[in-house]
Amino acid sequence: MASTDFGNLVHTNPAAVLHPSSIGDIVSLLKFSNNHSSPFKIAPRGRGHSCRGQAMVANGVVIDMPSLNNPITRFYADVGGEQFWVDVLHATLDHGVAPVSWTDYLYLSVGGTLSNAGISGQAFRYGPQITNVHELDVVTGKGELITSSKKKNSELFHAVLGGLGQFGIITRARIRLEAAPKRVKWVRMLYDDFSTFTRDQEHLISLYGNYQELININHGLNYVEGSIILQQANPNNWRSSFFSSNDQLRITSLNVPNGVLYFLEVAKFYYDHDDDTNTDKELKKQLEGLNYIPEFIFTRDVSFVEFLNRVRKGELELHSKGLWEVPHPWLNIFIPKSQIEDLYHVIPNIIAKDNTDLAGPILLYPLNRNKWDDKMSAVTPEEDVFYTLGLLHSSGYDDWEALERKNEEILKYCEEHGIKIKQYLPHYTAKKEWENHFGHKKWRIFQQRKNSFDPKMILSPGQKIFNSVD
Ligand code: FAD
Repeated sequence: MASTDFGNLVHTNPAAVLHPSSIGDIVSLLKFSNNHSSPFKIAPRGRGHSCRGQAMVANGVVIDMPSLNNPITRFYADVGGEQFWVDVLHATLDHGVAPVSWTDYLYLSVGGTLSNAGISGQAFRYGPQITNVHELDVVTGKGELITSSKKKNSELFHAVLGGLGQFGIITRARIRLEAAPKRVKWVRMLYDDFSTFTRDQEHLISLYGNYQELININHGLNYVEGSIILQQANPNNWRSSFFSSNDQLRITSLNVPNGVLYFLEVAKFYYDHDDDTNTDKELKKQLEGLNYIPEFIFTRDVSFVEFLNRVRKGELELHSKGLWEVPHPWLNIFIPKSQIEDLYHVIPNIIAKDNTDLAGPILLYPLNRNKWDDKMSAVTPEEDVFYTLGLLHSSGYDDWEALERKNEEILKYCEEHGIKIKQYLPHYTAKKEWENHFGHKKWRIFQQRKNSFDPKMILSPGQKIFNSVD
């Protein structure tokens, strides 16, 4: 193969052919030749479509480049800060590519989620949306339009990502893309024991905690989330209708010790050219050794768009019943892995008190901190693995305060028991609380950045950071 090409005119034998499995292999080969007493020649060979031996080398080494088989990672999309993620999805799919990190719900704006973090079941592997941005155009609080990236105006770049709208208005974000999968194997497994549920979640994300670089997209799981439900509640909710009526019956007639169930939810993406049985085999391999309730594993095979846009259907249903525009006293917190059991003891009690229903989905899933960038304004707990807990309450106009009190109870419990949570989509009103949220060092940086980019404190006052009470 290495001694011929499309022209079929020149035939030259190399001494060896390198089939690299990483860029490191190529670096080593070049270094080896450079350090040799008489450096040998090296020729990378693409597909050998030269006509006159241009990719051949006599007595040297041909590098068979296709062996690298790296995913195509150099795609990006320039999108307006005002765009919805769902539109980004459709526009990029037209070119066979898509962003890698998502939120559960796609009718959120790019600038809005990048001002927080943007998390979903992909974040354990790809990081939050803020770490999948190459470049930003920002109109700062001073009214200057500045292009920024990790290398250029990096202070502004890092300030704005997770910056709660405090430093500038994102008008363009350059978002990382990958080849888009076509379909998704979407799986839910049922647990009746909290510790087993979290142990399995942590196991699934652990592989990605050790790697900084991208693991080949064809391997492993692409999405890991989890949720908590009361057994008597409908296992389907507005976030996704996943279970058939038969599945629902099986779930509700299960004998569950304390009436609380846990769903571990995973997804494996696959491409047109993937063999379906290989995808199933890879999925099976990933789920080996998990301790869900035997037989309570449910699988669906859906299109990539149906999977990513899974919340839309429920949203439209709630809209039609007038139940979307109700009060939403949500609480989202990040909890260090080592303290998740401490916190969990109180959650069902607090929530189930007064015999109220859970009043909305409860999400709980772990994230790898090494996929976040501490230079950015977003705040996480300090442990390598932390959980995100989302209490996505909906309520009537009269009873939202009761749910708000439950949220406060949870926050108070954490404070009193030394559980080092961080609020996601934070809501504070006192300066001291913000200082505590960011931590001393980060708060100082946050204030300095505010002075640099929005010294007149013009932007996003609704966050109540620089106009909070002392
Ligand atoms: P807004 O609420 O309009 O703005 C949020 C903040 O960013 C404000 O301070 C605003 O001033 C500022 N801002 C807005 N646009 C810009 C811009 N272009 N430049 C700079 N600052 C700007 N979050 C997740 O991470 N994962 C989820 O899965 C998820 N699911 C959700 C599901 C639903 C149904 C809802 C309602 C929210 C969900 N969220 C989720 C939360 C969401 O990320 C936040 O609400 C976020 O604020 C995005 O909403 P938005 O685009 O409407 O921004």
